[in-house]
Formats: sequence, C-alpha cells, structure tokens
Amino acid sequence: MPFAALQSELDERAAQGLLRSRRTLQSPQSPHIVVDGKTYLSFCSNDYLGLANHPQLIAALQQGAAQYGAGAGAAHLVSGHTQVHHELEVALAAFVDKPAALLFSTGYMANLGVVQALVGKDDTVFADKLNHASLNDAMQLSRANVQRYRHNDMAQLAQLLEKTRSGRKLIITDAVFSMDGDLAPLPELLALCEQHDAWLLVDDAHGFGVLGEQGRGSLAHFGIASPRIIYMATLGKAAGVFGAFVAAEQVVINTLINHARSYVYTTATPPALASALLASLQLIFQGDALRAHLQQLVAQLRSGLHDLRWRLMPSATAIQPLLIGDNQAALELSNALRERGIWVAAIRPPTVPQGTARLRITLSAAHSATDVTRLIEALYELAR
Ligand SMILES: *Cc1c(COP(=O)(O)O)cnc(C)c1O
Repeated sequence: MPFAALQSELDERAAQGLLRSRRTLQSPQSPHIVVDGKTYLSFCSNDYLGLANHPQLIAALQQGAAQYGAGAGAAHLVSGHTQVHHELEVALAAFVDKPAALLFSTGYMANLGVVQALVGKDDTVFADKLNHASLNDAMQLSRANVQRYRHNDMAQLAQLLEKTRSGRKLIITDAVFSMDGDLAPLPELLALCEQHDAWLLVDDAHGFGVLGEQGRGSLAHFGIASPRIIYMATLGKAAGVFGAFVAAEQVVINTLINHARSYVYTTATPPALASALLASLQLIFQGDALRAHLQQLVAQLRSGLHDLRWRLMPSATAIQPLLIGDNQAALELSNALRERGIWVAAIRPPTVPQGTARLRITLSAAHSATDVTRLIEALYELAR
C-alpha cells in the first residue's frame, strides 16, 4: 500500500480524538439545518446576521447571473474584472471609510496576498499568537522575520518593536479572535504603529457587518482611522455570501494589484457574487435591528450559563466559546448535544492551544430567544 504511512498518521490522530471529518447538509445555512435527514438547531455557522439564505441576496445572485453569467472566465488583470466587481469595490471602500478596496476570492487568499506583497526577507512581521491560521501561513510564506507576541500583550509587542531596527514593520492581528471571540486592542496597536513607524494589518473576518455603527466593522467600533491601517474583511461570514476584500490607501491597493500573487494568479470570482454582495451591503447598512437582536442573544446566553460547570470565555461578540479543556470531553459533549438535536462544533488543537478544547458556540440574528433557551437547558442537563 503506497500510502500506509498516511493511514497510520490518520489512525494516530483518531486515537487522540483529533480526526476531522465533514457532515453533509441537505439544507441552506440557517439556525435549523438538515443533516442525514434530521433537523438540528445549529450554533456553529459564522452567518452572524442570518443573510446566507436571505431572499434579497438570492434574488440579487439570480439577477447577477442573468446579467453576467455563471463564471468570470479570467483573472481580474486579464478580462475577468467586471463593472459589478468595480461597483462593489467602490461601495466597500466607502463603507469602511478607506480610499480604495480590492476584492479577493477568499479571506485566506487575501491574507496570503497582502502579507507577501508588503513584506519580504529584510522586513519583520509582528503577530499575535492567537491569530487565524491564514495570517500565520501568510507570514511564513512572505519570508519576513517573524516575531510572535503573547495574545494581546502590548508590553511585549512594544519591546519587540523597540528591538527591531531595520526593514519594514508590519503588525498583523485578528480584530475579533476567531476561536475566542475577544477583541484586539486596536487603538493601542495603532499607537504602537505610530510610535515605531509600523503598518497594521487588521483581519476583521468576524467584525465586519456586526460591529460598529451600521456594521462598518472593528475600526468603526473603536472609532479609529489611519492610513497605516490595512483593513481586511471576509464576505462569507456576516455578509452571507463569499469572498473577501482589502481596503487601504490607493498606493497599497496598487501594490496588491501588481504584487499579490493570490490576486494576480487566480480567476476572478463570479460577478453574480458581487451582485449578491451589493445587496448584502445594503442589508448590513440597514441592519441595526439584526445587530441589536444578536446582542440580546449574547446577553441571554451569558447570563443563562453563568453558573454552568463549564465556563464561557470572556467575549462580548457572537463567538461564545465554552471552555472544556480535554479533547475527548469536548467531542463527547458535542456528540451528546447532537443526540439532543443541537449542533455545536468542538474545536480542538491544533486550531486552538493544547488543553483548551472548546465548544465554539456562535450566535446569529436568525436565532430566536427560544433557540438559545433550548441550548442553555441542554447544557445544564448534560452538566449533571
Ligand atoms: C474565516 C477567516 C479567514 C478566512 O476567510 P475565508 O474567506 O473563509 O477564506 C481569515 N481570517 C479569519 C480571522 C477568519 O476567521
């Protein structure tokens, strides 16, 4: 068997309770999903505003496909860049208050492209230890020197910046940490950038659409703006569709168009997605009621679970991880909830540090208070 070594690696993972597999949905993304013919109450999507299956987005997608077809057929730099891609970039830049924006196929690709285009082997990247895997991969791929600082530890970051005398300096951080739900101290990070002439790449995958006035994201949440900030957000989470964008000074965007390999050497996303995203941006902009409801659900969950045996991690966002610790225990709790018709993903190493396996509960504006009550009751029952 030519792949015997691969099989034994997988067997080893399975023995540690770390084997990953997929479940196949027979329904759209929503709080109530159908898997293997059974309906589950789900708390694991990143569809924070419940837009992934919204009729206005579906209509816009259909209209976009009717107008532009199914596929872009070429890269943006060849003949794949359409009028509706352009309109979306203009709208996104204005929405996050930046001079220009550039669409990428995914957030993963945006992070790879930005870091690799902006820094190289004579430069240094400073990265929070809990950053998303795509940022970690991006800094490795860039060949820059890498300095990782303890989660949100501004004192350690200041020391590392102090010691770095030459080259460009790029600080990279999740704005909302994807597996913890807490926020990066963006105003402090920006102050350090100003002090040390560094740039700041903010990955707002979980803040865009959810945080700040009209859902404008983490920069708006903190009320900060600076040409030093390179803002990245994804469009497959709260925005409910697919893709990502980077918003920054025009010179940064021009640099990405010329040097970001994950932008240059890939096919443009279907223009119809851009049509759907323009509709999504409208709903995000008008979505104060959705965001208020989401905040109510967060408060309900946190107060409802306050004396549970397992602790919710400190988070004010839609990401509400329940810390379990042991891999097998997290998996068993997730399985026990599933037997009760509730779907919450167990997140294990290497996605999170050893000994911090957790249930990553995510809330959506599409959930009802009754849905959250059902989850709370099931967790208390299982804690006994
Ligand atoms: C999901 C996520 C990404 C990747 O975005 P995709 O569009 O799914 O590729 C990047 N960064 C963070 C923090 C994320 O949570």
